[in-house]
Amino acid sequence: MAVPCDFEHWRLIVTVTSRTPFTATVLGIPRIGPRRELKRAIESYWAGRIDAAELHGVAKTLRSDQLTALRAAGLDSVPVGTFSYYDQVLDTAVLLGALPPRVAGIADPLERYFAAARGAESIEPLEMTKWFDTNYHYLVPEIGSDTTFSLHPEKILDELREALELGVPARPVVVGPLTFLKLAKGIDGVAPLSRLGELVPLYRELLRQLAAAGAEWVQLDEPVLVTDLSDDEIALAADTYAQLTQAPQRPAILVATYFGRPGAALAALAGTEIDAIAVDFTRGTTADDIAAIPALANKLLVAGVVNGRNVWRTDLDQALGTLGTLLGSTGALAVSTSSSLLHVPYSLSAETDLDPALRSWLAFGAEKVAEVRSLATALRAGTEAVADELATARAALASRRQDPRLHNETVRARLDSLGPDADRRAPAEERRVLQRERLDLPPLPTTTIGSYPQTSAIRKARAALRANEIGVEEYNRRMRAEIDAVIALQERLGLDVLVHGEPERNDMVQYFAEQLDGFAATANGWVQSYGTRCVRPPILYGDVVRREPMTVEWISYAQSLTDKPVKGMLTGPVTILAWSFVRDDQPLADSARQVALAIRDETIDLQSAGIRVIQVDEPALRELLPLRAEAKPDYLDWSVRAFRLATSGVSDATQIHTHLCYSEFGEVIDAIAALDADVTSIEAARSRMEVLDDLNAAGFHLGVGPGVYDIHSPRVPSVEEITTSLRAALKAVPADRLWVNPDCGLKTRGPAEVEAALANMVQAANAVR
Ligand code: GLN
Ligand code: ZN
Repeated sequence: MAVPCDFEHWRLIVTVTSRTPFTATVLGIPRIGPRRELKRAIESYWAGRIDAAELHGVAKTLRSDQLTALRAAGLDSVPVGTFSYYDQVLDTAVLLGALPPRVAGIADPLERYFAAARGAESIEPLEMTKWFDTNYHYLVPEIGSDTTFSLHPEKILDELREALELGVPARPVVVGPLTFLKLAKGIDGVAPLSRLGELVPLYRELLRQLAAAGAEWVQLDEPVLVTDLSDDEIALAADTYAQLTQAPQRPAILVATYFGRPGAALAALAGTEIDAIAVDFTRGTTADDIAAIPALANKLLVAGVVNGRNVWRTDLDQALGTLGTLLGSTGALAVSTSSSLLHVPYSLSAETDLDPALRSWLAFGAEKVAEVRSLATALRAGTEAVADELATARAALASRRQDPRLHNETVRARLDSLGPDADRRAPAEERRVLQRERLDLPPLPTTTIGSYPQTSAIRKARAALRANEIGVEEYNRRMRAEIDAVIALQERLGLDVLVHGEPERNDMVQYFAEQLDGFAATANGWVQSYGTRCVRPPILYGDVVRREPMTVEWISYAQSLTDKPVKGMLTGPVTILAWSFVRDDQPLADSARQVALAIRDETIDLQSAGIRVIQVDEPALRELLPLRAEAKPDYLDWSVRAFRLATSGVSDATQIHTHLCYSEFGEVIDAIAALDADVTSIEAARSRMEVLDDLNAAGFHLGVGPGVYDIHSPRVPSVEEITTSLRAALKAVPADRLWVNPDCGLKTRGPAEVEAALANMVQAANAVR
């Protein structure tokens, strides 16, 4: 209240919301540490190198640094509680006393928490799955008949107190009851949502305790409101929030929606007494959608105009235009990111090697906070107050639009000139005859998915190359030695279609991104994928050009060592996009075609080098599936076409494989069939081959290799087990279409396990033959 102009602003708004509104915020913050300090500390704790007190110390320092920085950056409401040792949904399960009974016996709370996340001796961890359409994975709570909810708010209360002591305008953030239950898995036939009534009193008590501890605002995250909900579910949402707002003592309530359009849920929520709603304006919601809901006129609208998911600098003029229009339809307006900043790297300041032009087009977490502040300042004090920021943004945007790397005429002309048959091959039956003749494989051919164990020799060689201790020559020599060993191993084991083992690849997307124009790598752009696992997605900023063959030397070398066919190994266009930060100045479908063209050129070069089998991996096909049903057909259409464009340049005698994993395939089964790959290897061991029935129902008639054992576990499957899997598969697939392979690549496994497991797999295939 010390600043007079703030006071004026507040007085204006207090009349409409009866709560002190805020003007600039973000919906959540990254937690892994700017230099992955938390990741290292947690892993040290797991390894017994540090104790819990030391881990808590690292976490506390990271939190206070971050909170102080956010306040200093000018946010007048700062999210707290988005910190986590593993995952925010797991934290919510702890908050609500909903950890699975199998960990209840573990006395130490931190050990119990990590056991639920990662398993422990004889304790299965919770399942993990993708958080909406992001590449972040949350732990799936289990709600069974023996789940009895109870409130355990210590974490959020501690973090609130800690923030208030630092003088930070703290807004506790908690996953809302609807989202929590919708994301949970029912055990023994329990429908999680049917338990909503039990959660309401717990959330009301939580609200009371947060208010008593000094919280003015609380944020309840309900991203599930942007998915397709039934009318009943929307009514349930409205009813739940009507009840929560009646809590006798509570902070002002912000319900946060993000990752899409809240649709009908928005009007339903606006009809309750909640104080504020966060809406993602980067995913289709317009100012007109807001104007159409009169009840929003007495709410604080938290407008997500700064994209929390991508890495691009915001068009501040355009954002101001949106904000200006919104001013007329809402009681008060706050500027925000569209989602938590969990999904972007901390700050551009850690990047020293980026091309200066590209750098000027980007905004990571810290830069997005500054954008929020600039926009809020412009709203309050007029655009003159941020004239410099606006000018810088305009110049960067202009430079980006004019950059020749964003518009490569050669690539665009090539794509335009492709005929209608460019994504089509001869009928599968004709291809099969040609391939059978050329490959001469036994029935139930055995193969692997691509990678072999990342041995310590490989890691050492990579580190030595990075440290300039060895040159590229020596590095390549060591990689060839790895390939020698992997080929010899496969020959010894008697596998039929061999692979080179992918020793030269750091990562299946980064490897290609580094060799394609239009992509840039970051030095420190780490983003949490799950738990302590972080990824550094490449940035796709321009038109994609393949400079030269990317894999041919390696695969040809491997093929020179054996008479058996060696699979060329490529990553598909959809997966390359899914695991990158993509450009936002053209439809994703257009970027997909450009990547597809580069992969297509590579398949043709592999074929010319004598490679007879080529695998194009698409494990992320399911991941990019839009959240709303109405958007799914278009996505499935362009993603399938991109894959087919990438794989239809080769002759009909060249056998195309694909590989899919990490997901429930139900919704994309038709698309898998439409990929028209000669052979599809697919994760199936954990779902007990059910995927095969689904494929049959979709009319799938091509080769299929349902994973016969789960590579996610170090356990070596016995010959009997694999034989049983194969016999189960043969009930659904005729022998002449069935392939024998593990579930996924072997890079995370140890060499001894891999050898033993594959020996058993080959033996099982022989037995069944
Ligand atoms: N070819 C890759 C490998 O074997 C596929 C990895 C994946 O499916 N994610 O490692
Ligand atoms: Zn896989």
